Amino acid sequence: MSNKQNTRFHVNEQGYYGQFGGAYIPEMLYPNVEELRENYLKIIQQPDFKEEFDHLLKTYVGRPTPLYHAKRLSEKFNATVYLKREDLCHTGAHKINNTIGQILLAKRLGKEKIVAETGAGQHGVATATVCALMGMECIVYMGKIDMERQRPNVERMRILGTKVVPALSGSMTLKDATNEAMRHWINNPTDTHYIIGSVVGPHPYPDMVARFQSVISEEMKIQLTEETGNPFPDYVFACVGGGSNAAGAFYHYLHDENVNLVAVEAAGKGVDSGESAATTALGKPGVLHGSKTLLMQTQDGQVVEPYSISAGLDYPGIGPIHAHLFDTGRVKFVSATDDEAMNAGIQLGRLEGIIPAIESAHALAALSQFEFDQDDIVVVNLSGRGDKDLETYIRWGKY
Ligand SMILES: *Cc1c(COP(=O)(O)O)cnc(C)c1O
Repeated sequence: MSNKQNTRFHVNEQGYYGQFGGAYIPEMLYPNVEELRENYLKIIQQPDFKEEFDHLLKTYVGRPTPLYHAKRLSEKFNATVYLKREDLCHTGAHKINNTIGQILLAKRLGKEKIVAETGAGQHGVATATVCALMGMECIVYMGKIDMERQRPNVERMRILGTKVVPALSGSMTLKDATNEAMRHWINNPTDTHYIIGSVVGPHPYPDMVARFQSVISEEMKIQLTEETGNPFPDYVFACVGGGSNAAGAFYHYLHDENVNLVAVEAAGKGVDSGESAATTALGKPGVLHGSKTLLMQTQDGQVVEPYSISAGLDYPGIGPIHAHLFDTGRVKFVSATDDEAMNAGIQLGRLEGIIPAIESAHALAALSQFEFDQDDIVVVNLSGRGDKDLETYIRWGKY
């Protein structure tokens, strides 16, 4: 895990990445977050924690996920392109790496119940899954509008034994569900753990989630060494919603400046269209979801409603680690539009027989914005599979 001599891109003792991060929370939430902050490193560094985490990742999630040399895609982009197959994880995406980690942590903190919020329902399903696995009671708050839009995920959670509670306030979407989940946690501080689904939220969540997802780049180093004799690629591409799959894919390369790290945001209908989720292009510093970060906001600081064809990238901010990586220039941030991502998703289907999640298709779409050298080694983190997006592919129709 983090190298103490070289922490420039990791969180500091106060919970900050450069000027971003911290814990901007109501006083009522302080004891809950403080309990986590005091214990998370101690617990996740214990050998028996590591052992149980690794064992479940192996036997339940299906790790290590393959690193696949995509030959036909490589030809197309005139480089050697590998796909890190997070789409092959149980439940279809990387999110389960984090929920497994957090539920093991919750158990060791003596918690009996889990609360979470979900937007598109993917994090809700990953949370419901690990709660069933551990026999823990689970409540997921979800905006009423999102429940109507994402019916299959609501039913998945219910089949798994989770109680899905509609958030009826405000716009009845993700931020309202977040408020209700926070309120629930405030009212149930002793027996309940709150599972956040990305590298967002108050310290220590961003660091904790990044550590759980860092298994992605840990495996990449081993697998690249087997494939090429060198753990370091020339490029790593990952899409960014809140930024957890990207944080995991970048984690063990952050201090190796020869590895070009590329984060791909959702430009929606275009960065300047008024309908996008390209946070670094449009955002300014502010406080969102308990931390100081970059977020899309109006002149007077109202959060701007984000838009992307991909529900997982439809978030008005990014995790504070990414705000810092953008600020320092360590990671290059680019964006891909709905059209570009859909075309890239269909292209991967045609060239490699893999239909990616539309989130992951954004990372693929960015390849065409780069001029590679013939011998460049490029890794694209394929964060999830496209099954959940079939309706969107069908509506898109151009295949
Ligand atoms: C949720 C999701 C994302 C976006 O979340 P991050 O925290 O940015 O990784 C990306 N891809 C898939 C498949 C997802 O389900």
